[in-house]
Order: sequence, then C-alpha cells, then structure tokens
Amino acid sequence: MDTNGSSALQISVLVLNKFYIPMHITSAKRAFVLLYKNSAEVVHSDAEKFHTYNFNDWVGYSVKNNGNPDDDVIHTSAFEILIPRIIRLVNYDRVPKREVKLNRRNILLRDGHRCQYCGKKFPTSKLSLDHIIPKSRKGKTSWINVVTACNACNTRKGGKLPSEVGMKLVTTPAIPKKNPVILKKIRSQKYQIWKHFIDINALPVDEE
Ligand SMILES: [Zn+2]
Repeated sequence: MDTNGSSALQISVLVLNKFYIPMHITSAKRAFVLLYKNSAEVVHSDAEKFHTYNFNDWVGYSVKNNGNPDDDVIHTSAFEILIPRIIRLVNYDRVPKREVKLNRRNILLRDGHRCQYCGKKFPTSKLSLDHIIPKSRKGKTSWINVVTACNACNTRKGGKLPSEVGMKLVTTPAIPKKNPVILKKIRSQKYQIWKHFIDINALPVDEE
C-alpha cells in the first residue's frame, strides 16, 4: 500500500464496541486490518445521518466521495480509500475500562508538557517523569506521585523529597477525569465526528 505521507496509517481512528460505546483509539493501519477481516465496519455520517459500511462498500464510497480537505486518504495501486474516523467492532460486546491509563504520554499531556517544578514548557524529548516521593523511599508509580519534570529539575531533585531540596510543585497532581488524548484530538476539525459517541465528561477512552 502506497500512502500519501508515511504518517497516514498512523492517523487515529475511534473504535466502538458492538453497542456503539467507545472502546479506544487505534491507528488507521489497524482499523483497515479489522475492516478487511470483517471484524469491523465503518461508522460514517453523511448529512447528519450515520451509516455503516463494510470494507467493500467503504471502498465504493471512497471512490465517489473524496476531495474534502479534512479527509485523509490512502492511495493504493488500484484506488484511493478514505481513512475512516470511526469503526465499530461488530461482534465485540465487552464494556470499556473507565480509567485513563497511567503512562508517560498521558502524564505529559495531563501536565501540559510543563515541568511541574520550574513550570516551563519543553518538547517531549526534553522531559522525564519524576516520582515525587522517590521509588527508593517506596514512592508509588501513581497519578498522584508521578509528575512531568525537565531534565535539569529531575537531576536537581535526585532521590530527595521536593521539600528537602527547596523545590515546590506548580500544580497538585491528580487523576485525570477526562482522557487527555481524546481532549486534544476532539479540538481539531478532523475528529469532530467523535463527539457524537464520546461524552467527554463521563467516559475516558484510552489508546489501544
Ligand atoms: Zn524544570
């Protein structure tokens, strides 16, 4: 498969279970595998009505309907296919987990890519995770004990408590009630369609 830009297959697709409940976000690449195996169908809206499409129907739909500037398209040797924004797992009836996953990406997003000691914003590569109560003192890896820190602050703090080295947190770390990845995506025009399925105040959805 030839793509327009190597990142096309990395574009996010919202995955719903059989009952149209959001489960997680996956890549376009994985979404196409599921569609091709008939494990999933595309959920797409046209003039306010939602329709579902199997893989072949979606190929047909893509041929007739592309050219919208917000669309992402994959070019194959035979045809162009739109990257769906939402797919539904036709046989999957389990209910999603309700917590936001504790991982580096989500912690950085929660903290807005700001070092929680000096308050400055840094690119991802210049940030690390700091255990407020160090692991060496039995500090847990949890939402309330792990924060974003720049390399300089992390080095300065070392294996100490913030109070022991005269450092202070700029915000009190908390468990996010909303999924930071979803919040970020849903602000962009491309992913507006997700709003029909995600109640961002109630349901965190994680990445697969
Ligand atoms: Zn810092």
